[in-house]
Amino acid sequence: MTTPQTSAGPRGGGRGRQRLPRRRLTVAEVTRVTPRLVRVRAEGDLAGWTADGPGAHLKVFVPGADGGNVMRSYTVRRYDPEQGEIVLEFGIHADGPATRWASAAAPGDTLEISGQARGGFLPRDDTRNILLVGDHCALPAMSSILESLPAGTRAEAIVEVVDLDDRLSLSGPAEPVVTWTAESGRPGGQLVAAVRDMRFPEEPTEIWVGCEAGVMREIRRHLLAQGARRATRTATALDAGPLTLHTRAYWKLNTANHSDHDTGEDD
Ligand SMILES: Cc1cc2nc3c(=O)[nH]c(=O)nc-3n(C[C@H](O)[C@H](O)[C@H](O)COP(=O)(O)OP(=O)(O)OC[C@H]3O[C@@H](n4cnc5c(N)ncnc54)[C@H](O)[C@@H]3O)c2cc1C
Repeated sequence: MTTPQTSAGPRGGGRGRQRLPRRRLTVAEVTRVTPRLVRVRAEGDLAGWTADGPGAHLKVFVPGADGGNVMRSYTVRRYDPEQGEIVLEFGIHADGPATRWASAAAPGDTLEISGQARGGFLPRDDTRNILLVGDHCALPAMSSILESLPAGTRAEAIVEVVDLDDRLSLSGPAEPVVTWTAESGRPGGQLVAAVRDMRFPEEPTEIWVGCEAGVMREIRRHLLAQGARRATRTATALDAGPLTLHTRAYWKLNTANHSDHDTGEDD
């Protein structure tokens, strides 16, 4: 392992953000969960490695075209630091190095991951209504979040997949209601249409959105016009509106390695 590095990136604010050392892992098992979703279980030293809640993402480092490594964002589907294992799920829909790596992955291959995972979904304790809206590459995050919601939560998910044969079982103690749509026309178009048709309950609802950058902005704009407020880490039940928004772009059309910090705030 290497020593921690610091960076003054967009969020570093010039003060420098500590980067924990990367971990090198070995692929133990590869499963084709659906025609376009590959699950990779990898093993290695994960002592002290952390993820901040369901749907948290890390950086994966895989070989790029020029022989060096490229970095991409992926969701921690499951991890067990004591067993030293982590599970990631790769959508097979992009034409990029991470997708190519996952398509060909086999036991014994190696990959590196960042020192920790961030950006997990942590709803307020008093939230009883949760809506998840996402596309195919947000499925690992939606699966993890739905598994984490306690019984008694009204959980709903709207998912757009490339084809309906990519549906999988989304379950959890909250017994979520899931609506599946197949891509038709531009990616994410079905998500925009579904959200526009929704009527929201009177009680506070937290809405999580993960999809293509332009589609996320359209959904965000519509929900803000409905009176939604964006989530902040300090919001309380009193100062939050009836609809609280958590948005993140998971990819951007015609753009490789889109930023994992894009929440649409610039819109
Ligand atoms: C917080 C976060 C968590 C994520 N978690 C996951 C995850 O668990 N599983 C997962 O599969 N993806 C996940 N993604 C999305 C993944 O990082 C991108 O799809 C990534 O661009 C794929 O890398 P690549 O090397 O295959 O393609 P790139 O080299 O990045 O892109 C090549 C081309 O493919 C297009 N492209 C990229 N992604 C998609 C897509 N999803 N659908 C259609 N076209 C695409 C790009 O626009 C570009 O033209 C996550 C992204 C974020 C920000």
